[in-house]
Amino acid sequence: MSLYKTQGIVLKSIKLGEADKIITIYTNSRGKISAVAKGIRRMTSKFGSRLEPFTHVDLLVYQGRNLDTVAQAEIISSFKDIRDDLEKVEYGLAMLDLVDKITPDGEKDSQLFEFLLTVLGTLAKIKANFRLLLITFDIQLMSISGFHPSLFNCVVCWRHLSASSSRAKFSCELGGIICMRCNHTVPAGREADVNTIPISSRSIDMLNRLLFMDIEEISGIEIDQKVEEELFKLTQGYVNYHLQVRLKSREYLSKISRKSKAESRKRKNEKLGTKFHF
Ligand SMILES: [Zn+2]
Repeated sequence: MSLYKTQGIVLKSIKLGEADKIITIYTNSRGKISAVAKGIRRMTSKFGSRLEPFTHVDLLVYQGRNLDTVAQAEIISSFKDIRDDLEKVEYGLAMLDLVDKITPDGEKDSQLFEFLLTVLGTLAKIKANFRLLLITFDIQLMSISGFHPSLFNCVVCWRHLSASSSRAKFSCELGGIICMRCNHTVPAGREADVNTIPISSRSIDMLNRLLFMDIEEISGIEIDQKVEEELFKLTQGYVNYHLQVRLKSREYLSKISRKSKAESRKRKNEKLGTKFHF
């Protein structure tokens, strides 16, 4: 059996047999790998919490015929500041889940590895804008993975869209904006296509900014709630369409998003109510 050394970020783990787990790790030298951690569920395991999701580890792995086995794991960073905050954990798991679903096994991509490290480092540091970080992560990861969206030219006629085209739509299937002229030529019934999402020109501008932004600058971004809501819907639709599955890790986040909308409506009504009393 040959042995290899690599560095990786733990994406997930699933139980195997009585005491083992299969750990899925995104590594810098081999892309996504899965390896068995033997005896990890025993109290006395040498691995302890070294192979929990989010952990950045130095690994020594036995290459097996079917499945690799982790021989040694040393923590580089456990991203404790993510782990200690339930909300950060929810957003972070949604990110790890997308990396797991979108990357093929064993395909090296150092750019993606570095990107994931930077994103987790940023999530650990920031005090707000968690959902905006997820939106930015999603759109940048889609771009890295070959689904770079076209935001300034219609994906049907390639006409350049002016800033005044405020009633454009985003096609998840075609990966970009469809101008109103092309949208009208779409056969009846297609308009209500779930894969086409209305997008305002303000949101297009913001999405373009997020697409090329240095992700560590996320905490300095100020965003209108309406624009954030629109972009959250758009990126979730785009991701779901390309994966052809709904990510379970994100169902809860969509629920919080709806809840916060209902709460802000309630607050607005309360304000109106106060005004009424005057
Ligand atoms: Zn067009």
